[in-house]
Amino acid sequence: MIEQYRTHRLEFTDQTVREWDAIVLASDPESGVVLDRSAFYPGGGGQPPDHGVLLWGGVQTRIVDARRADDLYLIPAEGDPLPPAGTAVRGALDDARRTALMRTHSGLHLLSGVVFRDFGALVTGGNMEPGTARMDFNLEQVPADFRQRVEAACGLEIAADRRIDVKVLPRDEAFRLPDIIRTATDLLPPDLTEVRIVDIVGLDTQADGGTHVASTRQIGRLEIAKVENKGRGFRRLRVRVVD
Ligand SMILES: [Zn+2]
Repeated sequence: MIEQYRTHRLEFTDQTVREWDAIVLASDPESGVVLDRSAFYPGGGGQPPDHGVLLWGGVQTRIVDARRADDLYLIPAEGDPLPPAGTAVRGALDDARRTALMRTHSGLHLLSGVVFRDFGALVTGGNMEPGTARMDFNLEQVPADFRQRVEAACGLEIAADRRIDVKVLPRDEAFRLPDIIRTATDLLPPDLTEVRIVDIVGLDTQADGGTHVASTRQIGRLEIAKVENKGRGFRRLRVRVVD
């Protein structure tokens, strides 16, 4: 969750950064570009990577993907010019995409908090695109008005405008949080010394590396578009985040 790359990850601690200055540490048309500082979320936990540009020497390099290996590599659009190592660049995120992903990701945490609290169901998987997502739950019995009840409860939690706090805790402290024990102790690598926690205060606490809005009202409206029955106890909720 807190990976040791040469790149300082600005979005870990400040999810509002959209533009910043950086130096290129490495650059190669095959593997991509490594920066000393970056706010590009590289993807993970169901959240796809940010898009954006690097501006330098009067040209731009569009960034369309990211890859984690020995370093954190930003993947340029095919055919775009590449800044050589040592170049000072200005990084800028595609704000519409990132902001939609933050609202969608926070919406999924809110949904998982509501479905656990009201129906006792645990999340088994999920994925998102800007503004749309699916989340899978383990839930044997589904009441007839399940979709309406979940959507209404999510609406109330959004209207309550709960704070969404992000903090980094030492492993031992994080693993004493009841919600973290419930959701993450099996999933986190044993050598992890620090855990990033996303806390919808009073509703849902998760170990998570993704980017989130600062309070639930910023999610907008969460629509439960569909509840699919994928087999014994396996329910897939398809959701939309709209204004
Ligand atoms: Zn998450």
